[in-house]
Amino acid sequence: MRLYENEAKQIFERFGLKIPKQIAIVENSKELDELSLSFPVMIKAMVLIGGRGKAGGIKLVSSIDEARFTIDEMFKLSIHGYSIEKILLEEAVNVSNEIYVSVTTDPATFDIVIVASASGGVDIEEVAANSPEKIWKKTLLENEKTLPDAIASDAAGFLINSDTNLKGLENQLKTAIQALYSAFQTAEAKICEINPLIITEDKEIIAADAKIVLDDNSLYRQEPLLKSIGIDPRSKRHDISEQTYFEDKAYRIGFPYLDLLNEPEKFTKEKDKLYVGLVPGGAGYGIFSIDEIVNVGDRYFDGKVIPINFMDSGGGPSLSKVADMFHLLMDHPATDLIITSRFGGISSCDIFIRGLIMSLRDRYTNRKRMIPVFGRMVGTDLAAAREYLEKAKRETPEPLKDLHIVVGNQKIMADVIKDGIEYGFKVKKQEN
Ligand code: GDP
Ligand code: MN
Repeated sequence: MRLYENEAKQIFERFGLKIPKQIAIVENSKELDELSLSFPVMIKAMVLIGGRGKAGGIKLVSSIDEARFTIDEMFKLSIHGYSIEKILLEEAVNVSNEIYVSVTTDPATFDIVIVASASGGVDIEEVAANSPEKIWKKTLLENEKTLPDAIASDAAGFLINSDTNLKGLENQLKTAIQALYSAFQTAEAKICEINPLIITEDKEIIAADAKIVLDDNSLYRQEPLLKSIGIDPRSKRHDISEQTYFEDKAYRIGFPYLDLLNEPEKFTKEKDKLYVGLVPGGAGYGIFSIDEIVNVGDRYFDGKVIPINFMDSGGGPSLSKVADMFHLLMDHPATDLIITSRFGGISSCDIFIRGLIMSLRDRYTNRKRMIPVFGRMVGTDLAAAREYLEKAKRETPEPLKDLHIVVGNQKIMADVIKDGIEYGFKVKKQEN
């Protein structure tokens, strides 16, 4: 569940962070008549998505007429497809520095990651892409309840080194980062981010923006927190904005799917690495596969193998759902190799192999990108599945030439994975 900026700010404030004075939330410009404003004021679109600044959803205004005009215009906007229902008014603060700071969880390892940069503001993505040396990043392996002093000092030191303007603020920066971390832990959040954390001309530190994404799995424990910021815990607030293109697509088709790469739509692959997509047999096996890909990659391939997704077919998927699962990963720009498995359970190996072959033939006919598939199947309808696979390979060898399925238990999955990765690297070498 993603919180609105004003809700997240209320939470941050409880942990000791300073926030700008909140003036009002309005649904139209007429409501301004009821307010006595002292300018300048920030006008901020309330949508559950970032990047409002660049999309025209954040404006500084200096008079009541300007406020009225700006609000009327802003309500006409749509920000990345989201219409604006409410607008937040808050006291504008003067800015001398904009800092970026966040606490998140790495989706692949579940470690907590803290990121800080003295080059915060609306261009932080560009900074991360083009000047990684301006970003401080620390991975915590032990899920500490409070942020150890040494780490907070390290972050504050980095910020001060990046910008002489921040000299003398070490303790305040430290406290702010530790407060953000405590908010993250206490709220059991997935993301807590402040961008920008503003340093004013008077050297005050103020959270000018606030983002919190709560973990839906722990919401039942967070009811008091939700109520305290005016959210009905039973109201489902579905944050589509957090989904990647592929997660959204899988959601519409009807199977659980998670991307392990950040922003896979825009992702740039590292040339010497192999990116492995997973179509596992069930959720538990899906999680195991992620681990095992990394394990085999570390042991035999110099750690150069990256699992890119989690997925789960659910019990007894239909033919078309199986095909769609493979299509999704073959449409995914990162995928170099797909590892798949059917491992007992109620799902039919026969339907699985038919769905898989259907997707490969379809892609071959339509000249879509084909990816090598390695896997193993064991379990229900195995004989029929074997027969179908052998016949299919005789009838249409071309679309199935990169399909390598072990039928039965003569190989353990780790060896299937290793074979697949070796093959994947070989193909990659030929392409380069
Ligand atoms: P986002 O684009 O959705 O992340 O929206 P933000 O709340 O971060 O606002 C975007 C930008 O507006 C910030 O990076 C600041 O440069 C600017 N901004 C936000 N609040 C204030 C403020 O109180 N005073 C001033 N001068 N600028 C602000
Ligand atoms: Mn922001």
